[in-house]
Amino acid sequence: MTTLADGPATSTATADAIAADERWSTHNYHPLPVVIAEGEDAWVTDVDGRRYLDFLSGYSALNFGHRHPGLVAAAVEQLNRVTLTSRAFHHDQLGPFCQELAELTGTEMVLPMNSGAEAVESAIKVARKWAYRVKGIPDGQGEIVVAGSNFHGRTTTIVSFSTDETARADFGPFTPGFVVVPYGDADALAAAVTERTAAVLLEPIQGEAGVIVPPDGYLARARRLCDEAGALLIADEIQSGLARTGTVLALDHEGVTADLYTLGKALGGGILPVSAVVGRADVLGVLRPGEHGSTFGGNPLACAVGRAVIRLLSTGEFQQRSTALGAHLHARLSELVGDGVTEVRGRGLWAGVDIAPGGPTGRQASEALMERGVLCKETHGSTLRIAPPLVIGEDDLDRGIDAIAEVVRAR
Ligand SMILES: *Cc1c(COP(=O)(O)O)cnc(C)c1O
Repeated sequence: MTTLADGPATSTATADAIAADERWSTHNYHPLPVVIAEGEDAWVTDVDGRRYLDFLSGYSALNFGHRHPGLVAAAVEQLNRVTLTSRAFHHDQLGPFCQELAELTGTEMVLPMNSGAEAVESAIKVARKWAYRVKGIPDGQGEIVVAGSNFHGRTTTIVSFSTDETARADFGPFTPGFVVVPYGDADALAAAVTERTAAVLLEPIQGEAGVIVPPDGYLARARRLCDEAGALLIADEIQSGLARTGTVLALDHEGVTADLYTLGKALGGGILPVSAVVGRADVLGVLRPGEHGSTFGGNPLACAVGRAVIRLLSTGEFQQRSTALGAHLHARLSELVGDGVTEVRGRGLWAGVDIAPGGPTGRQASEALMERGVLCKETHGSTLRIAPPLVIGEDDLDRGIDAIAEVVRAR
């Protein structure tokens, strides 16, 4: 019988580790006061030996849980062969990785990068070049239409079209060329897409915004609008993709195909940063030698781990787990609506839970859950984001949901 943590972690080991972080690392995060020392499957253990269920999964970077044996084995095997060549030379993992990722996602070509933000940056650059060289938009006049409350990363260009003031303030001047419309509003999108539109960039489900699922038909309409305007549809699947919603790509639920997809997070198996832009060969094919790149992009270790991730996804097991466990999660969470919760959204093993006014704040709820041995993180004040690893057992999922029910009802 595994015992969950009970009460706040107050030991010297915990306090010392937090004090060192506070003193020496920049304060660009506000973590929960838990200091993790080990992880396995859906569980992590802190420096005092307390165990917690991981209900966040590194924002879906840990879809396969902590230290999945197949992923660790692939990493270790590659660590013992070669880890970095730079793209100045070929290596034997890049071609197979790109082919297998293209086949998994039903696409034609792959541009490997490292972080999610880099994949988004790369997609923006490719879309702009395609717009000037292929679509024929006059140089420098291409626009990319994006959605309000988006989250696409933290670079200066990407925060240029964020609507989150905290993410933007003091980081200007900003990159021009972006048009922001409300998410889920197809008419607003229709009004914004013109002959100057190079691309429409959307999250199929907005994770950071609180797991916002757009209205039925919105993404299909976005596809049609892009077709009519001769613009590219770019789906940012960095958080929604790779089995999180029960399919390889969240867009698969809509029967919609994007021209480019950005992938990241789970593509690195929770082991190292691996991202990619995947999509049409005639679009990604606009890049010529020297125009774009990254020293670590597509390195042998990243490709070997990415290939092991693709092997896990090609069995369909994790998609099935997300679907089945997700149905259970949503059935149970929906029982809380009206009882400490105002709304639950999401798809597959992924949910945004809005805590009712008068209940705990999102931060208080996250801390209370931590004290009950369940780790998740609030977003936007009063929303809990639930994304357990897809390897979690149903009994553990239920323990976590029981704790959530207890915490959101407390007032
Ligand atoms: C996390 C995330 C990113 C950025 O990824 P990083 O690896 O943190 O740079 C971009 N888009 C979406 C949808 C994300 O969830």
